[in-house]
Amino acid sequence: MTLMERLYLPSIFKGMAITFSHIFKKTPTIRYPEQERPFAKVFRGLQVLNRDEEGREKCTACGLCALACPAEAITMEAAERQRGEEHLYREEKYAAKYEINMLRCIFCGLCEEACPKDAIYLSETFAPANYKRNGFIYGKEDLLIPNPLTQPEEYEKAKGERAPATH
Ligand code: SF4
Ligand code: SF4
Repeated sequence: MTLMERLYLPSIFKGMAITFSHIFKKTPTIRYPEQERPFAKVFRGLQVLNRDEEGREKCTACGLCALACPAEAITMEAAERQRGEEHLYREEKYAAKYEINMLRCIFCGLCEEACPKDAIYLSETFAPANYKRNGFIYGKEDLLIPNPLTQPEEYEKAKGERAPATH
C-alpha cells in the first residue's frame, strides 16, 4: 500500500467530489405540507362512503366489500331502515356501523370494485399520521362524504376526482 493510499486521500477527495456534485442538483425532497406532490391518476387513498344526489347514504350493508377485502379491514353492522328515514338511506337496509382499520388496509381498491352500489370508493387523499392505534380505526362518521344538499361546499371538497357518478 502506497503512502497516499494509507492516508486515504484519493478516496476522501473522490467522496467529496461526489458530495459536491450533488449540491447543485435539484432536490428530490418536497417541503410538505407547504408543497404537495401530485399523485398519479391511479393513486388510491382513503375510502369515502358515498351518498346519492339526494344526500342519502348509498351503502346497503350487503357486506360484499368486507368479503372482498384481503386484509379483513372492514367491519359493519346492518340495520333496517325505518319509516320516515327514506331521506337518509337509499335502500331498505343500511350500515348502522361501518369501520375500516387503516392499519390493515393495503389500499388495493377491491372494496370499491366489489361494491354493487357505488357506495364506496378510494379517494386521492391518505390517512393522516396518528400517535394512537385507535386513531386509525375509521368509523362511518370519518368515512361518510358530507351531504351534497346541506353541505354542498364540503361535499365538493371531499368528493375528489375519483368519485363515481351520483345516480
Ligand atoms: S382498499 Fe383493499 S385492503 Fe383496504 S379496505 Fe378496501 S379491500 Fe380492504
Ligand atoms: S360499501 Fe358497497 S359492498 Fe360494502 S356493504 Fe356497502 S353496499 Fe355493500
